[in-house]
Amino acid sequence: MDTPTDFIFLEESIAKKCNPKFGDREYLVIQTYPLGKTIRVVYRSYDYCDADQKCQLESLSHDYSCFATRIYHDGKLWIPGNMSGIPYKISEEQFWEIHPDYKSSDADGEIEICDCSYLYFVGRTSILTCLKNDNGRSINICPNCAATLQEEEEDDDDFVPSACRGCTNYHGDFYGDIQLICAIHPSGWSDDNCPDFSVDID
Ligand SMILES: [Zn+2]
Repeated sequence: MDTPTDFIFLEESIAKKCNPKFGDREYLVIQTYPLGKTIRVVYRSYDYCDADQKCQLESLSHDYSCFATRIYHDGKLWIPGNMSGIPYKISEEQFWEIHPDYKSSDADGEIEICDCSYLYFVGRTSILTCLKNDNGRSINICPNCAATLQEEEEDDDDFVPSACRGCTNYHGDFYGDIQLICAIHPSGWSDDNCPDFSVDID
């Protein structure tokens, strides 16, 4: 069953050398909140108990972050079985690989992160998949967790002219189709240097 090569991979330093990514059945403690565009691995170990302890420790020592233990298997992240630590269920968090077309700065849109860690591309008119092996598909639900994806929400902040951001005079409410920017300059100031810009000083 166990060939000499299998044993070699138990030795972490060798595993890393042979596989610069992660070893099969390597436990990774990852940050699950807040999510970044690449998953942050805070600890790696081939020992499930060791990894799980480290995970709990990380959670205790960070008030605003969450961590979870995952097992790397078949090129994907899995949730380890509670007691056994063997791959139990495919993890929502994965190392998504973005297709190069969407990485470039002239791509007409933004890469966004779903709450489940999935990366997608919000273009001018539609939401697209942007992964290496699945790109250019128009989607409205997350292929990973089935959450509804929002096109760029036009919330109030979007209408705040850059000159007015943070200004206490800013009003911004709509009266019919007309937006009242502020009492001093009802239709706003033309550039970023409004002479009446004011901030609250506590
Ligand atoms: Zn999702």
